[in-house]
Amino acid sequence: MKKIKLEENENIECSNKVILLDNPTYVIFSLKADGIYLPSIKKGDYVYQEEKIAIRKGNHFPIFSSVSGIVEMVDSNKIVIRNDFKNRVREHNIIEYSLNSYTKLEISNILFQLGIINSLDKNEPYEMLGKVVNKTLIINALQQDAYIYLQTFLLKIERKELLELIEAFLEIYNFEEILIVVPKNQELLLEEWKSCIRDSKIKMVEMEEYYSLSNAKELIRAIKKVTYANGLIENGITIFNVSTMLAIYGALKYRRPQIKTMIQFTGNMWKNNCYMEVRIGTSLQEAIEQLSYKRATDVLLLKGGIVSGKVININNYIIDAKALAFTAWKVTKEIKQDSCIRCGKCSKACPVNLHPALIMDAISKKRNLSRFEIQRCIDCGLCNYVCPSNIDIYKNIKREKEKII
Ligand code: SF4
Ligand code: SF4
Repeated sequence: MKKIKLEENENIECSNKVILLDNPTYVIFSLKADGIYLPSIKKGDYVYQEEKIAIRKGNHFPIFSSVSGIVEMVDSNKIVIRNDFKNRVREHNIIEYSLNSYTKLEISNILFQLGIINSLDKNEPYEMLGKVVNKTLIINALQQDAYIYLQTFLLKIERKELLELIEAFLEIYNFEEILIVVPKNQELLLEEWKSCIRDSKIKMVEMEEYYSLSNAKELIRAIKKVTYANGLIENGITIFNVSTMLAIYGALKYRRPQIKTMIQFTGNMWKNNCYMEVRIGTSLQEAIEQLSYKRATDVLLLKGGIVSGKVININNYIIDAKALAFTAWKVTKEIKQDSCIRCGKCSKACPVNLHPALIMDAISKKRNLSRFEIQRCIDCGLCNYVCPSNIDIYKNIKREKEKII
């Protein structure tokens, strides 16, 4: 795979400031994300914070309310809860559980019952940890896109909690190794972590960052120099990012669902790029009101980063546990889609050597796509990023790929 280094503008930084947004007026939960969810409450009901409000059709994977308050609306798409700002929970006692005392089966059951999701992968943690043998656990703290540093930041500020979980996992799953992957040039972070590690099976791995190491298979290839034909789980490899590890920690330590998440605001349009801890279900609009925003035209708002991020509408976007970063980007050229000019930039950029322009051509002519091997696309979004004609190549490839996978 090609190693694409993202050029970053050094003037765009992120302060270590964390804004707390603890009192959203409403919280909203989609009933159509990652499956169809069936509500277990109705309009007018009172719900407690951390109360189960819906379950996934098929396997009963739950959603919990992140506030206490009145259910304002329930339809087939969403649940809206008006916050009463009382943070009322049914169970007041906070018990701290010993992480070492769990069995593998108990861990999978708790992570399932508390609806802990994986912010890196479509497989939830209860599935990944519950499979066959667990040989290697990789904790990925690398950048997922340009100007996104959230995972490294969390590794810095939550070391004690993470280490407690890592050491417990080592004992319970008997992992052959646990690798914590950090970007190069983080000497202080590295030293702090190394000075606390007591078991030689826990290793810090420094990586030169290139795009896209957020792709699990590419990360494994870069670290272990092997390419697996089949899935990672089958090969005993589990990968979590730091956000997911912290959600697992909260569930096992306190037996509580995840009701808050940390996100990063980045790009060249917030006055101060920063991190924010928010309740899950908060509207992006309400979160953004806490920030100084350079209002301007021609600003792209993306969930994720400028390369692989998805353009979103600020008015109806709800923050869920998978939302890790939002980029506001002032575009310097007019975003107008033109015809393909056959410049070849998309083919040159594609890390897995696909030919996006030819694929687009075949799609528009409804030709058979089998020779283009679009299933190898790693969803990096680089073809879109480099295209001078602003063609949404990736969206089309993704749609075709979903038909065959
Ligand atoms: S998103 Fe585009 S550049 Fe990235 S792997 Fe797929 S086709 Fe290639
Ligand atoms: S980068 Fe855009 S304009 Fe250039 S060949 Fe690819 S699709 Fe066509």
